[in-house]
Amino acid sequence: MRQIAIYGKGGIGKSTTSQNLAAALSEAQKNIMIVGCDPKADSTRLILHGHVAQTVLDTMREKEEEDVELDNLLHTGFHGIRAVESGGPEPGVGCAGRGIVTAINLLEDLGAYTADLDYVIYDVLGDVVCGGFAMPIREGKAKEIYIVCSGEMMSLYAANNICKGIRRYAESGKTSLGGMICNSRLVDRERELVEEFADRLNTRLIYFIPRDNIVQRAELHRRTVIEYAPESAQANEYRALARMIDSNTQFSVPTPISNDELEELLLKYISENDRNPASDCLYQR
Ligand code: ADP
Ligand code: MG
Repeated sequence: MRQIAIYGKGGIGKSTTSQNLAAALSEAQKNIMIVGCDPKADSTRLILHGHVAQTVLDTMREKEEEDVELDNLLHTGFHGIRAVESGGPEPGVGCAGRGIVTAINLLEDLGAYTADLDYVIYDVLGDVVCGGFAMPIREGKAKEIYIVCSGEMMSLYAANNICKGIRRYAESGKTSLGGMICNSRLVDRERELVEEFADRLNTRLIYFIPRDNIVQRAELHRRTVIEYAPESAQANEYRALARMIDSNTQFSVPTPISNDELEELLLKYISENDRNPASDCLYQR
């Protein structure tokens, strides 16, 4: 069983990518469980066709722990993919990270990690690398990590920060980084930028996913692209991503860079034509 954690800035495309990855792997006859580790609890919406899974934390608030059964938490969607949402605390109260710890422990106790599973995919909110969000890797549950990013500054900033969090656990051999997945935002020279960024962090760009509106159309129909438009070019992109991950053997301990170095790298890739002399002046004042 391979346990994979997908990290990245909020809104970058973690849930879309994880679910399309899961759908593509399931087409290749793999048994998959997705564990949503984001208080938004929308990691499994496309797999479950819009059905909002009762979250582990909501269930635990409503029932005594001994009354909770696996069927209350584990839902089955497209191609038999199993789906769980850890959920979050009441807004403004409690720590979301702790919720993930509680949820994974309960899933283990209830026997969710069956021997027939080929992949468990954790979709983890990664803006804040607090101890709780590091839980899937800290406890050595997810042995491999992929970071979803784009060429946008804030997503690379988050990816670099996430690597700072990962390094600690990777050095102790609990986990390692399998690569960066660039989910394109149509930034200039985006592929080259993310390739160099990954290289500087001692990892690699494992796949470049193009931006395509079919993703939004499929989302409105509460489906992955794999299910909604199986013949589309974008579906083939997700299948290719799945093959890259399935055959990946390159894992590393990341080496995060300084913010200055990150900014220099970004400046190098901004196309000269897009430089606005007026704004350059502003910085010089
Ligand atoms: P996250 O889970 O990281 O918060 P989501 O997976 O929910 O992000 O994605 C945010 C939005 O971006 C969604 O509305 C989704 O449809 C869109 N999106 C993600 N990937 C792509 C893509 N490759 N092309 C077009 N839209 C995308
Ligand atoms: Mg998400």
